Amino acid sequence: MKPVMGQEEADAVTAVIASGWLTQGPQVLAFEQEFAAMSGASHACAVSNCTTALHLALLAVGVTAGDEVITVSHSFIATANAVHMCGAEPVFADIEEGGYNIDPAVIEALITPRTRAILCVHQIGMPCNLSAIAAIAKKHGLRLVEDAACASGSEILIDGKWQRIGNPIGDVACFSFHPRKILTCGEGGMITTNDPAIDAKCRLLRQHGMSLSDLARHSSSKVVTETYDEVGFNYRMSDLQAAVGRVQLSRLDGIVARRQQLAERYAELLGAIPGVAVPQQPEWARSNWQSYTIGLPDGADREAVMQSMLDAGVSTRRAVMSSHLEKPWRNARRGDLSRSEAVSAKHMILPLYDAMTDEDQVVVADALARALASAPAKRAA
Ligand SMILES: *Cc1c(COP(=O)(O)O)cnc(C)c1O
Repeated sequence: MKPVMGQEEADAVTAVIASGWLTQGPQVLAFEQEFAAMSGASHACAVSNCTTALHLALLAVGVTAGDEVITVSHSFIATANAVHMCGAEPVFADIEEGGYNIDPAVIEALITPRTRAILCVHQIGMPCNLSAIAAIAKKHGLRLVEDAACASGSEILIDGKWQRIGNPIGDVACFSFHPRKILTCGEGGMITTNDPAIDAKCRLLRQHGMSLSDLARHSSSKVVTETYDEVGFNYRMSDLQAAVGRVQLSRLDGIVARRQQLAERYAELLGAIPGVAVPQQPEWARSNWQSYTIGLPDGADREAVMQSMLDAGVSTRRAVMSSHLEKPWRNARRGDLSRSEAVSAKHMILPLYDAMTDEDQVVVADALARALASAPAKRAA
């Protein structure tokens, strides 16, 4: 991944510095309004990153100490950690066969009287099966939070209509603006919802439970004093970040269209390599291709393939981790996670960035084909 950044972002930051208002001010408010319009949600609340967005979203839907939240292990560890930040416990469900998202068919068996919410992930920008998950949440009276960290600009077909991820099918969705994601302002997060009470709660908690924002007090012609009615956090986004985010948002359609082209080209090039599994898009989903992941042929030694490609000048990464394999989550309650483990062990991410040329993609595909031909297969245990 290489961020798509230009002089416009630099100019936007310069203007904020000259303005004298540096944090959670007019730029943050404008970014929120523009992000809400993009996603189709009625409210958007900017925060410091997606981990803090998830923390506030879970608190806002009522997740509290002693609760359980059903989610995936197969995600960046922030997903599970955000549940812990509420004093609750993540319960891990496996992913679907042939995909990277939660398998709706295994959720119900994990529900207990302690279950408060489902935290689904649109992994690497590929929408998860929201219709099926929302039906389960509704049937069992559970709240539904979407970890959309990677999914700015992804789309899903709901009731015959394409809509952007972030017009929550559940209660609330959370986005990341880390440089590894589709839009970036260095660090940043956004919480979108159609529920004014959730939005109000997030706004309160992101700034120490303060009853009146700085912007509200500054805009008032009367002297007003704020109160602090509950314990909150400092999860503010700065106006420097928001100004960059606004320019990034204006680039979103172009960024996604370009990544779709590159993904289609990869599918052509890699389809010719025996045993390589390219990502499949369900007919009801349009990915933003935040990452391009592949599965390797049976028996291939992924680390040897990655090393061989690195030696040829092609940088790759392992695909999505499984959080239950890391120390903090080894003992978490869970269903069978064999698909999560298999994908975390065998899949990898190829380079994909806006400025990539067709020649670059051919170089990657050739390096992969040669690595697979030369790398010694792992011996079956
Ligand atoms: C990146 C990511 C996060 C964390 O986002 P930050 O903005 O870095 O806190 C959470 N969940 C998923 C699925 C992610 O990919």
